[in-house]
Amino acid sequence: MIGVVVLGSTGSIGESTLDVLARHPDRFRLVGLGAHRNAGKLAEQIQRYRPDYAALADLGAARELAARLGDTAPSARLLSGPEGLLELATLPQADCVMAAIVGAAGLPSTLAAARAGKRLLLANKESLVMAGPLLLQAVHAGGAVLLPIDSEHNAIFQCLPPGTGAGETPRGVRRLLLTCSGGPFRDWSAAEIAAATPAAAVAHPNWVMGRKISVDSATLMNKGLELIEACFLFGLTPDRVDIVIHPQSIVHSLVEYVDGSMLAELGSHDMRTPIAHALAWPERMSSGVEFLDLVKTGRLDFRAPDPARFPCLPLAQTAARAGGLTPVALNAANETAVHAFLEGQLNFTGIASVIDKVITRCTAGPIGALEDVLAADSEARCLAHESIEAHMRAGTTVSLGSVGA
Ligand code: NDP
Repeated sequence: MIGVVVLGSTGSIGESTLDVLARHPDRFRLVGLGAHRNAGKLAEQIQRYRPDYAALADLGAARELAARLGDTAPSARLLSGPEGLLELATLPQADCVMAAIVGAAGLPSTLAAARAGKRLLLANKESLVMAGPLLLQAVHAGGAVLLPIDSEHNAIFQCLPPGTGAGETPRGVRRLLLTCSGGPFRDWSAAEIAAATPAAAVAHPNWVMGRKISVDSATLMNKGLELIEACFLFGLTPDRVDIVIHPQSIVHSLVEYVDGSMLAELGSHDMRTPIAHALAWPERMSSGVEFLDLVKTGRLDFRAPDPARFPCLPLAQTAARAGGLTPVALNAANETAVHAFLEGQLNFTGIASVIDKVITRCTAGPIGALEDVLAADSEARCLAHESIEAHMRAGTTVSLGSVGA
């Protein structure tokens, strides 16, 4: 039995992971579940999946969880605070850790799981964007196995020569092509995009995802973060990773070899495929997804992205080329700006404008240690808040539409 910890269990990737695990009770044992503050959903998951441990990062929510479970609590041991998540990530009973916390908050537990030598299923792309060199060092030092969950990177991993290690430049590869649905505003004019509401931005045409990554998909920052993630995971410079718009989201990404061959992974747009792939690797197991019917799919379209309507993509490309602390600033500015957009404090085009200002002003330079990353992260968040306040004073906010809280 393989012991599994799911960090971010109450989110979209977390729930898909639990769905896949529940299909294979003979193969996996749920060791732990961790989240931030959704005590209601975590209580339901504990009752249903009976993990050995559960943790909430927020102390108040952890108390609420204990109260909700009361005497009916199954035997799960409850942990709390960020250190509770670190304990979950390093439990000796856990062979495998799904890192599916959203944003920079996922970095400490992801690093801890890598240092502890776990099989690390990495959905939390932000930790690679922020601290790629440190995470790869931790993977190598801890003897961890790093498997990408992002559908694009998982597709590339499946198309690479077997045995290619994390961060190792694959043999014979000319370039990678990351596919991108184009998001909900793919065919909108610049004027329509400028007036986009949070409700419209989180309504992704193909994928059901958390709110932050849905906005990232609408700005194309998600693809920019994935470009940086791909450079670290596959040991390539940014000029060897191209982005192609593919509205059907059937081809999940491609690898071009020096002999002219292109290998691609195709499938339904359902995250349970990469999750099941990484859980079972190097074997295969069922995931519950609908099988792809190519005849019904009919056609596959590809086109170049438009940097003028989606300036977050070139900003990320600039950060990828700069390397060092600039991707840290990019990520922190993006998280802060997306949060402000979802709160109605910033309009959609303000997201790129805030990021641009932050990466221009933030301290650049190489990453030496985790302290450098954390300092750059907080500097960038301060600069982003200043820039958002300037936008608010100028009145460039937007109505919330019908988006939930
Ligand atoms: P969701 O917003 O659906 O879920 C986020 C999860 O992270 C929740 O469990 C949340 O807990 C937890 N969380 C948030 N903040 C903290 C914190 N400070 N401490 C501990 N836990 C925290 O996100 P997704 O599942 O969509 O995305 C998760 C990650 O996977 C992201 O990095 C995303 O980029 C990546 N990813 C997602 C894909 C998708 O299809 N959804 C595809 C590819 C990658 P709570 O509910 O208690 O707030």
